Amino acid sequence: MQNPGDTDAAPAERRSDFVRERVQADRSAGKHGGRVLTRFPPEPNGYLHIGHAKSICLNFGLAAEFGGRCNLRFDDTNPSTEDDEYVRSIQDDVRWLGFEPDGLFFASDYFEQLHAWAVRLIEKGLAYVCDLPGEELREYRGTLTAPGRDSPYRARSAAENLALFARMRAGEFPDGARTLRAKIDMASPNMNLRDPVLYRILRAEHHRTGSRWCIYPTYDWAHGQSDALEGITHSICTLEFENHRPLYEWFLAALELEHRPQQIEFARLNLTYAVLSKRKLLRLVKEGHVTGWDDPRMPTLSGLRRRGYTPEALRLFCERIGVAKFNSTVDMVQLENALRDDLNKRAPRVMAVLQPLKVVIENWPEGAAGAHGAGEHVEWLEAVNNPEDPSAGTRTVPFGRELWIEREDFRAEAPKNFWRLKPGQEVRLRYAYYVTCTGFETDASGAPSLVRVRYDPATRGGDSPDKRKVKGTLHWVSAAHALEAEARLCEHLFREAHPEASQGGGHEGAPAAGDFLAHLNPDSVRTLSGCKLEPSMAAARPEQRFQFERHGYFCLDARDSRPGRPLFQRAVALRDSWAKIEQKERAPG
Ligand code: ATP
Ligand code: MG
Repeated sequence: MQNPGDTDAAPAERRSDFVRERVQADRSAGKHGGRVLTRFPPEPNGYLHIGHAKSICLNFGLAAEFGGRCNLRFDDTNPSTEDDEYVRSIQDDVRWLGFEPDGLFFASDYFEQLHAWAVRLIEKGLAYVCDLPGEELREYRGTLTAPGRDSPYRARSAAENLALFARMRAGEFPDGARTLRAKIDMASPNMNLRDPVLYRILRAEHHRTGSRWCIYPTYDWAHGQSDALEGITHSICTLEFENHRPLYEWFLAALELEHRPQQIEFARLNLTYAVLSKRKLLRLVKEGHVTGWDDPRMPTLSGLRRRGYTPEALRLFCERIGVAKFNSTVDMVQLENALRDDLNKRAPRVMAVLQPLKVVIENWPEGAAGAHGAGEHVEWLEAVNNPEDPSAGTRTVPFGRELWIEREDFRAEAPKNFWRLKPGQEVRLRYAYYVTCTGFETDASGAPSLVRVRYDPATRGGDSPDKRKVKGTLHWVSAAHALEAEARLCEHLFREAHPEASQGGGHEGAPAAGDFLAHLNPDSVRTLSGCKLEPSMAAARPEQRFQFERHGYFCLDARDSRPGRPLFQRAVALRDSWAKIEQKERAPG
């Protein structure tokens, strides 16, 4: 199978883990004929997030490493929450991440087979139709400390159950009136074995089967049997399903299926300053706390993509965090560092002034006289595209009398150790010349509005022949050539590292969402206008990433750009600035 993750992620960083060891052991023992077939089984009820990337990288990675295959299977058994929009976005995201599924399946394709197998269980006396309403059904189930009680309908004959189940399917009963349950053990210490529900009555339009069905299989009934149908060898899921495994195996045994997939559980990814649950992400979207599933602050794959993340960085992140048996929370900084490490190697450097201040070179020569009088003298200076990658070459950048520098690179009154521009101080303009500040002007509020400098013509390229030292090097953009742009800077969506008390999840019985919304960061997005970019940026295309020198990594957001006013999204700052912000907030004063 095709797996770019295998070729361009650093293989040295790949550690083995208990899942890989397990698969290796099964192969060595000749289990499943040494075959490896995994699957990634999302429910199409939302967009994929970075947690899903961990599962995708694991499932597709195993297939690639062991010469096996990996399916994409939509676990579409909850018609009320599922949608084709999600099916499409999930396929796009898996491909974008760099993986091509070997097979594309839908659990709904198996509805007929699953139904036939349910009938088989009834015939074997291993399933029955139960008339207990939801509330009572729960109550009969008991608790973790108290055993459950047998349903009064448990003793129905196979013939009666078959007839009732047929009438359930035929739509003779209202929604929720009856269920089909496996007959296992109401006293089992494992709640999942206390006669779990296989089918419920639900009149909902299914995104693929329409109104053909009014009974739908539960996750537990559909999942393992779908695995078996596809010939999955290793069914990898997150830890919440560990105590569903006995049920998973009970079904396979009860059906006497020849092929028995092995369920293996691993720890789900939790990330600081983020929520990773589709339900909560859906709330953020529905309630308008973000602009959509692909809001650049979202931990969704489409959000991260729009933010400027590369598939390579996400795969690198997944390799670095590894796969473990115990839940833990990964620091967001690790995700950001994976992007920095990836882009540092390959993102072209450009100069961009985000908060501009005008600089005028007093001794800059007049230009040659042209048709319209004396033109401005312009020099095109050579700039290095990527110091980390000599093969990236150089480009030329125009330089003239009037320049933009960063507002914070000048101070009218500055301490001794301020190495940037201040009256009387000499600095280097990167790739250009040394300049010395001779004066400045202020606006009505007293803020600097223009800085005057003199340049040293002998320092062209940014080095002085007399080896005169300057400590500050500033980036700049020629005012006459600048591309006007907007820059969007995002911070964490949440102010708290752990916005949800418990990061549960899973298909049923997940803990209720805490009020994670109380921790939203009100300053998570800031858009700067009037930014000045070097003119080469006019050719920027979406999905290209750039390093704005001294700022961070940016990419064009075509959707929010306006004609003549491109918008660049910051993917990540050069260094972790959040730690500093937190420190400042805690410091007195
Ligand atoms: P959510 O709670 O976000 O809806 P889910 O588990 O219900 O997550 P599914 O669409 O059912 O989402 O998940 C598809 C696969 O991705 C499953 O195998 C699931 O275990 C895995 N997965 C989901 N979230 C994570 C996570 N945070 N870390 C690792 N794997 C995950
Ligand atoms: Mg789910």
